[in-house]
Amino acid sequence: DYGLTEADPEVRSIIDKEKGRQFRSLELIASENFTYRAVMEAVGSCLTNKYSEGLPGKRYYGGNEHIDELEILCQQRALAAFHLDGNKWGVNVQPLSGSPANFEVYTAVLSPHDRIMGLDLPHGGHLSHGFMTAKRRVSGTSIYFESMPYRLDESTGLVDYDMLEKTATLFRPKLIIAGASAYPRDFDYPRMRKIADSVGAFLMMDMAHISGLVAASVVADPFEYCDIVTTTTHKSLRGPRGGMIFFKKDPVLGVDLETAINNAVFPGLQGGPHNHTIGGLAVSLKYAQSPEFKIYQNKVVSNCRALASRLVELGYKLVSGGSDNHLVLVDLRPMGVDGARVEKILDMASITLNKNSVPGDKSALVPGGIRIGAPAMTTRGFSEKEFVATADFIHEGVQITLEAKKSAPGSKLQEFLNFVTSSNFPLIDQVLD
Ligand code: PLP
Repeated sequence: DYGLTEADPEVRSIIDKEKGRQFRSLELIASENFTYRAVMEAVGSCLTNKYSEGLPGKRYYGGNEHIDELEILCQQRALAAFHLDGNKWGVNVQPLSGSPANFEVYTAVLSPHDRIMGLDLPHGGHLSHGFMTAKRRVSGTSIYFESMPYRLDESTGLVDYDMLEKTATLFRPKLIIAGASAYPRDFDYPRMRKIADSVGAFLMMDMAHISGLVAASVVADPFEYCDIVTTTTHKSLRGPRGGMIFFKKDPVLGVDLETAINNAVFPGLQGGPHNHTIGGLAVSLKYAQSPEFKIYQNKVVSNCRALASRLVELGYKLVSGGSDNHLVLVDLRPMGVDGARVEKILDMASITLNKNSVPGDKSALVPGGIRIGAPAMTTRGFSEKEFVATADFIHEGVQITLEAKKSAPGSKLQEFLNFVTSSNFPLIDQVLD
């Protein structure tokens, strides 16, 4: 049995190249982070060899005494990291990632074609919250359930709660989903709770992006108001790639959430848990309870504010005018450029971020904005000063893009820009019209 270098130099070399890329670049993708060395050790351990379908003490395979201990430890740390009372809240740590976790909740509490309302994808929501276009149902969530997205008020960039309330009254969803992939402000949980109660709906929060901030209590606490909270584990939380579902232990709307959700995870939608991931997650949840973690999350927020202020100083328009969390959404349209071209040009300078639709975009084929996140570079030790410099670098990239746009037809810069434009549209953009 050989190590990777001897066994497979090809894969070794790809990993080394990726490591180099991660080391060299300014990593500003809001959903990414650098996990801990100890987490990677657990994820790369013998835990990957074991089958353990079921829950601790109730497995379909033998030899699970250590896996049981691990999963119970992970559950306890998950509840502790989010300051939850184990008599009131339970957690399933087996979801393979964020999208499966969300779909597991839907199948747990809904029947096929029940109605749901989540934030629309072009307004910052996530695909798994029920995205569909005028032409087709894109996400599995919108195929198997009836989705009526709510949206932002385009004049403020904030969730339009009045419209959400009006629509919910007419549409009568069974589930309302808070949470987003590109929303720089807190959700108004008390208001959403009231709306959910008024129509007899469950309220779920998908805190994937902000779970690290929630654990450190630097943003509002969704657990005070929601029935179910899902999360990925690899974004601001800094864990391995995975997912978790938290649920109230007391029945909600007559449903025993614990049984329904556990059954939806297994045998409903998954088989054997990824025990190596659960091992890594347990490690990251230990870190998430440390004083250093709280300091880190506070820095994420202050760094993000420094970035936002500098961008505003440089004349940029930010969706909602600023940020209360780990990301900013820049509306580039007033500058006369789009997010797709800017993303590509910055990528060539090893600045990694992503193009993003902004409210009012006519077509997401060429989205008008970029999303910039602070967690990863804060992990690498950036402070406010470096984030101000980062804003300046991004500005330079935008200036270059503008110059290229203005250059003569047929010129090298124009050709380059055409290439950039034509090679930059993955599937989602093509269907988002
Ligand atoms: N929920 C939100 C809010 C997200 O932003 C994401 C991913 O970016 C997910 C769920 C899905 O997570 P995954 O990519 O792990 O399936």
